[in-house]
Amino acid sequence: MSVNQQAHTGPPYGQPQPGYQGYQQPAYGGQPLPGVPQSQYGAYNGPMPGYQQPVPPQGYFPPLGFPSKGSPVSLNSDTSSLAPNFIGSSRAPPTSGAPPAASGASLPSGHLAYSQFGHGDVQNGIPASAAPMQRPPASQPFLPGSAPTPVSQTSTFQQYGPPPASVQQLSNHMAGMTIGSTTASAPPPAGLGYGPPTSIPPVSGSFSTTGSGLYTPYTASQGPPPTSVSQGLPLAQPPFPGQPVSTQRLPTQVPGFAPPPSSTGIGPSSYLPTTGAPRPPTMPGPPLPGQTIAGPPASQPNHVSSPPPPSTMSGPHPGPPMSGLHGPPPPTHPPQPGYQMQQNGSFGQVRGPQPNYGGAYPGTPNYGSQPGPPPPPKRLDPDSIPSPIQVIEDDRSNRGSEPFVTGVRGQVPPLVTTNFLVKDQGNASPRYIRCTSYNIPCTSDMAKQSQVPLAAVIKPLATLPPEETLPYLVDHGESGPVRCNRCKAYMCPFMQFIEGGRRFQCCFCSCVTEVPPHYFQHLDHTGKRVDFYDRPELSLGSYEFLATVDYCKNNKFPSPPAFIFMIDVSYNAVKSGLVRLICEELKSLLDYLPREGNMEESAIRVGFVTYNKVLHFYNVKSSLAQPQMMVVSDVADMFVPLLDGFLVNVNESRTVIASLLDQIPEMFADTRETETVFAPVIQAGLEALKAAECAGKLFIFHTSLPIAEAPGKLKNRDDKKLINTDKEKTSFYNNLAKDCVAQGCCVDLFLFPNQYLDVATLGVVTYQTGGSIYKYAYFQLETDQDRFLNDLRRDVQKEVGFDAVMRVRTSTGIRATDFFGAFYMSNTTDVEMAGLDCDKTITVEFKHDDKLSEDSGALLQCALLYTSCTGQRRLRIHNLSLNCCTQLADLYRNCETDTLINYLAKYAYRGVLSSPVKTVRDALINQCAQILACYRKNCASPSSAGQLILPECMKLLPVYLNCVLKSDVLQPGPEVTTDDRAYIRQLVTSMDVAETNVFFYPRLLPLTKADVDSDCLPAAIRNSEERLSKGDIYLLENGLNIFVWVGVNVQQGLIQNLFGVSSFSQISNALSTLPVLENPFSKKVRFIVDMLQVQRSRYMKLIIVKQEDKLEMLFKHFLVEDKSLSGGASYVDFLCHMHKEIRQLLS
Ligand SMILES: [Zn+2]
Repeated sequence: MSVNQQAHTGPPYGQPQPGYQGYQQPAYGGQPLPGVPQSQYGAYNGPMPGYQQPVPPQGYFPPLGFPSKGSPVSLNSDTSSLAPNFIGSSRAPPTSGAPPAASGASLPSGHLAYSQFGHGDVQNGIPASAAPMQRPPASQPFLPGSAPTPVSQTSTFQQYGPPPASVQQLSNHMAGMTIGSTTASAPPPAGLGYGPPTSIPPVSGSFSTTGSGLYTPYTASQGPPPTSVSQGLPLAQPPFPGQPVSTQRLPTQVPGFAPPPSSTGIGPSSYLPTTGAPRPPTMPGPPLPGQTIAGPPASQPNHVSSPPPPSTMSGPHPGPPMSGLHGPPPPTHPPQPGYQMQQNGSFGQVRGPQPNYGGAYPGTPNYGSQPGPPPPPKRLDPDSIPSPIQVIEDDRSNRGSEPFVTGVRGQVPPLVTTNFLVKDQGNASPRYIRCTSYNIPCTSDMAKQSQVPLAAVIKPLATLPPEETLPYLVDHGESGPVRCNRCKAYMCPFMQFIEGGRRFQCCFCSCVTEVPPHYFQHLDHTGKRVDFYDRPELSLGSYEFLATVDYCKNNKFPSPPAFIFMIDVSYNAVKSGLVRLICEELKSLLDYLPREGNMEESAIRVGFVTYNKVLHFYNVKSSLAQPQMMVVSDVADMFVPLLDGFLVNVNESRTVIASLLDQIPEMFADTRETETVFAPVIQAGLEALKAAECAGKLFIFHTSLPIAEAPGKLKNRDDKKLINTDKEKTSFYNNLAKDCVAQGCCVDLFLFPNQYLDVATLGVVTYQTGGSIYKYAYFQLETDQDRFLNDLRRDVQKEVGFDAVMRVRTSTGIRATDFFGAFYMSNTTDVEMAGLDCDKTITVEFKHDDKLSEDSGALLQCALLYTSCTGQRRLRIHNLSLNCCTQLADLYRNCETDTLINYLAKYAYRGVLSSPVKTVRDALINQCAQILACYRKNCASPSSAGQLILPECMKLLPVYLNCVLKSDVLQPGPEVTTDDRAYIRQLVTSMDVAETNVFFYPRLLPLTKADVDSDCLPAAIRNSEERLSKGDIYLLENGLNIFVWVGVNVQQGLIQNLFGVSSFSQISNALSTLPVLENPFSKKVRFIVDMLQVQRSRYMKLIIVKQEDKLEMLFKHFLVEDKSLSGGASYVDFLCHMHKEIRQLLS
């Protein structure tokens, strides 16, 4: 148990900072506090004031135009001693730089709203393009009577005063720029490029309520349940006539795997452990068929059939026969008639390309009641094995209609793919924390026996949908937040007040602490403080505290952060049009820097640097008529040549900045410099932030391997043998990362490589500072600019906290032992992030260090100390209470497979840094086999050993695990570059559960089945080629890419409507966007694409794939239920393999 933890006051920070000069501090206490655009907090000042409502966020709207340019004016230095280069400006300051500024800007017509809420894990609902930007005031259930008031804005902008720093001798560092003529050459073909991570899908409309009555709230002992799958028979669950399958949460038997003797394997006995759980009736149905498929998996040639004839789409058994599949144990039972294949493969009524099963699946499993054709012997029907689509659909229909109320301990939330609202009644929303299990084994032995990892996936600054209430900001005054004396846990709903309210007992360490006089309150007859509902920290799972100076570095309140834009102006960057594009975009984007509440302007200051082999700093002080450039050519010992005028307020220096951004592309238009430096660029940004005594973010736009002579110079060592190993990094970059973290300098990297540029090394600093990497391979203006600009806009505007430290406290018996994500750790408990944005996720693993009790359960408290974009120091607290169990069945009924996969993927992706990939893969398979074998042995009813029985909550574990094993990091094909692998590895490590879900099991939508008259998405189908019809068009998205696949037999009319050409052969697969055509089908498809784009945290690359075209190979890589070209097993084969592994463990 981690008792005696220290306060969050300070991870080892860097060197002492010089005093601040001329900074005003934001007003604290007693005044309305600003709220962040994406998460505004109402002020909570002192006892019982009313909470303030969140304010509508500001969105970014692409400007209608750029400031106009005036006549040429020359740029001259006023600092002769620095001999700044003459920037032969051919342009004058813009005459109209004034942007739309101000909050609540209205959306220019014709422009897509850049929604703050339509991304990330706002998986639900209609997204942004259609969503309002305004956050409606949410009602506060516990505060009747105190009407929310709008947060008033507090401008915290401070003028940046020149820091004392000493300017070193610049003379010999200054150099002229190399300007030469350039010869354009044709850009290489665009590559796929990995884009972005993902998040969740908007669900198409069908949230049919299966009736809330059927949905019984989870109690400590209830849980979801097992699923067994048996061969050929979809039937896995015992028939519960009249009840929807998903509410039963029974084990699933995988058909095809073994013939259970007389029962499907789920006898009542398997539920015994569950105290209080409804006992399932015994299964009346006939025994499952008895094929045992224990055969060797994988490489059966006929598993992945090539393009099936269209007819397979309507037959009951899509796909080729799998006769090659089955090995040894021969079927012991004949196929059983009487079962219909409908359990998993077919969801819902017949939908499009899905096999047409007669029985309606949803809600009414009529197992055993309708005779169905027995499966051919020795064939494992893909429709009979657990279907992700079915599970997702079931959860949507069963749980999507009611809000998820967090008042009950240990409740398993709806899946990330379900659209639901959350009401905080004492536990953190699943948008902030999701767990692998909501019922933890009481003992370490039980945990080891099950092998189920205990982990939480935490996204501390997650964006909430507009309907949900943002965390309130609580101000406890000068004494700061009330905390336990011993473990330093923060006041939360689980603290127990005793002795008439004079003391409280800590729910984490049991220590008793005096209640500070100013915090005293009487208790009611139930022992609850009478102000319980008036204090967020007593009644809510998530809230914020205003931090006092004790929580600040060097005991000084921080200054507002700064953003520094650092642009590569080497030949490639200029030639591709990138430099001009970035400069044009920044002119407008700078007006949308993050701000809080309805502040008129952002408190964030900005600075600009360009570089190739040398660095150019710009003085953009508002008093200058023209910007000044200072060149530092001695990159070995980086320093910042100017302090006053480097970091400025956008509004004040608007004219000078606009002039600079106009001039940069011209200045370097003729450059012939191809070499770049990289580490000195980060060092320059870091030094600038140090000099300004603030935290901040560097936006680095970089194109090539930094081979120029300088610290951190890299060689072209594109050696696949080094992939994923620590050798990929150099200690130089690790040390630089450490320095950045100490200063709160977060690094975001936008890469535009035309060849290998060593992402693994360049990404070290980004990764350890909590930054993001974006990669646009073979960047071409025409096809990639939209994607890049959308990513840049979102990245610049999103909510971000700086100089962050996160600690997770736990109640006695378990403790956090391992952490995964983009951060730095200098000790074993504090996760430090120079920056933490609303998309970043940290996965935390827990281990037992003592026994837990069923009565008290287990508690987690995640505390994040950070600096807001206004420079305010805050603590965001998330609390979550979990159940504890003495029966393994309870553990298995309360697991969440999507979260489990998130953990396993991150664990494996880190594992490849120190172990061979095969070792990592084998360990993953072995762990999952043990998890399932433990269930089989301890929780399922006795049945034939040849039968595969899966817990209901984990019935998708095999299919999802297979997707992780086949992913580009664990089983790359030859086309996956070393840079791609490093990139993906880093991306996945920060993904939330929704993102890993769609990344590993992409969403496949039949566009031709879409209802053009509704806003719904067509029902998704399983990721297998045999589900595709030659006559249809499909969309596949995984959070990084969107593929639009067109079958060879698609009707001409549809092709005309979507692509504006008359035949299949005329469709260009070079399109990066769909043509805008005025017909319902085109509109619908573009609507769907826009909707998906808004939901993801990165803009996805659109790729048109024609059936039988060469790009189809790329597309097929994402049909994850099929065998992959790089050797990954098909789902069916992998299930067989897992079954074999489980049987070995059981025998
Ligand atoms: Zn304590």
